[in-house]
Amino acid sequence: MSSELIHRTQTRESSHRTSYSPPASSTPQKSINRIGYMLRDRLPFLLVGVALATLFFHVLPSRSILATARDSPLETQLTLPTRRVLMEGPIEKKGRAPVGVKGRKPKRILVTGGAGFVGSHLVDRLMERGDSVIVVDNFFTGRKENVLHHMGNPNFELIRHDVVEPILLEVDQIYHLACPASPVHYKFNPVKTIISFIVHDGLDCLKLESLIPMWFLEHKTNVVGTLNMLGLAKRVGARFLLTSTSEVYGDPLQHPQSETYWGNVNPIGVRSCYDEGKRTAETLAMDYHRGAGIEVRIARIFNTYGPRMCIDDGRVVSNFVAQALRKEPLTVYGDGKQTRSFQYVSDLVEGLMRLMEGDHVGPFNLGNPGEFTMLELAQVVQETIDPNAKIEFRPNTEDDPHKRKPDISKAKELLGWQPSVSLRDGLPLMVSDFRQRLFADAKLNAGKSVA
Ligand code: NAD
Ligand code: UDP
Ligand code: UDP
Repeated sequence: MSSELIHRTQTRESSHRTSYSPPASSTPQKSINRIGYMLRDRLPFLLVGVALATLFFHVLPSRSILATARDSPLETQLTLPTRRVLMEGPIEKKGRAPVGVKGRKPKRILVTGGAGFVGSHLVDRLMERGDSVIVVDNFFTGRKENVLHHMGNPNFELIRHDVVEPILLEVDQIYHLACPASPVHYKFNPVKTIISFIVHDGLDCLKLESLIPMWFLEHKTNVVGTLNMLGLAKRVGARFLLTSTSEVYGDPLQHPQSETYWGNVNPIGVRSCYDEGKRTAETLAMDYHRGAGIEVRIARIFNTYGPRMCIDDGRVVSNFVAQALRKEPLTVYGDGKQTRSFQYVSDLVEGLMRLMEGDHVGPFNLGNPGEFTMLELAQVVQETIDPNAKIEFRPNTEDDPHKRKPDISKAKELLGWQPSVSLRDGLPLMVSDFRQRLFADAKLNAGKSVA
């Protein structure tokens, strides 16, 4: 038994020590000779050693930081064979070093889902602030192109990994965004849509004809993925931010929705994989907070739009913008009188960062209180892109919430946050990104296939 062994060794060592007496040869004269020898023969070596060590740590600090950032994934790579490090920055730093906030120690930050729409904008802000960022993404709906501009920066690392698998990393903060967030799957009967692979064509994030059982992925990512990221936060003592959703309010009976409202969710409907998945994720976060003392932050995000959204992912703003640019009719579901509140992505990112850095757990609603019917949204898109764009009515999806508008008093008061970009100001910024991706990229692809 190991406990016995340890005990016996300790006893033996202590009995040696108590019976130890200096040998007769250790006279004062011999001690003086030894001191003389140390000063004469060993001191110069000691001084040279100290000088070399000082030189090493002062001249090469960036290399040692780099090593810390790279060590953990390598360690994980060895222990978890399913993981693959996709891209790491070369040793030399390209361009100018980002200016950090004065007096603030840069942090090591993990952004799961960082190659997605919201995640990539968040990564931009964190990098700008001078933090070291690790993106973990399985590219299910995200795109490498969204973070391509950070490749080559030693503060940035991109890892292809599915959060439903465990991962070992050393970080200070975790922004947990990984989740298939597009509503595409609400339109299909999940039991009948079992096809085995997903394809990317350079424009779309997800091709509709290649569906897999999304309901299962959704739930697994929200539950098992969140559990793994909370486990990681617990192991390294990192602060954890969950990007939950206004969908936790379901088809709300309270309007506008405040954080104290518990919601009206159909637990067995087509949307429940997302709604209940996020509700469970919130529960897990709070249980780890109360049970394991993890510092958690919960954001309930309302409909957000902006550049880098997936084209054709089925969300209303991306659908209308792509349709208007392609000269196709805008597809309004139902009677178009249902409402949503649309927030520009930079406002959301500001809110997420304030929440992470602040002292409050939440949940906090992060959304723009400006409320629009889908017909009004179609009108804004017409005004912005093409006044002649036609509107085509289609049947609505099941369990579609009739109204949605955030009450943001809590975020205003405790985070000092409120959105600043109106729909009419934000939409043109998204349109130029979509125009570029739809037409310039399509031309480039056509050129490539001819060549
Ligand atoms: P997105 O689909 O663009 O980004 C999600 C990212 O997560 C993608 O890059 C995807 O590849 C990645 N991902 C998905 N499953 C993964 C897995 N198992 N392992 C690793 N990576 C995985 O969506 P988004 O709009 O950027 O949403 C980001 C977060 O914000 C999501 O959690 C979403 O639920 C939440 N949210 C977004 C909105 C919105 O309007 N955009 C509204 C409410 C909540
Ligand atoms: N986990 C992880 N990375 C870590 C630590 C934990 O992915 O650095 C995962 C772990 O595999 C587990 C989950 O997080 O499935 C929850 O971990 P926790 O330690 O809370 O629970 P336990 O492992 O005791 O079930
Ligand atoms: N919608 C629409 N046309 C579309 C896509 C969606 O009218 O092409 C409607 C949809 O029925 C819903 C609203 O727009 O009422 C917002 O849908 P989205 O999927 O963008 O977000 P969510 O329903 O998750 O809020």
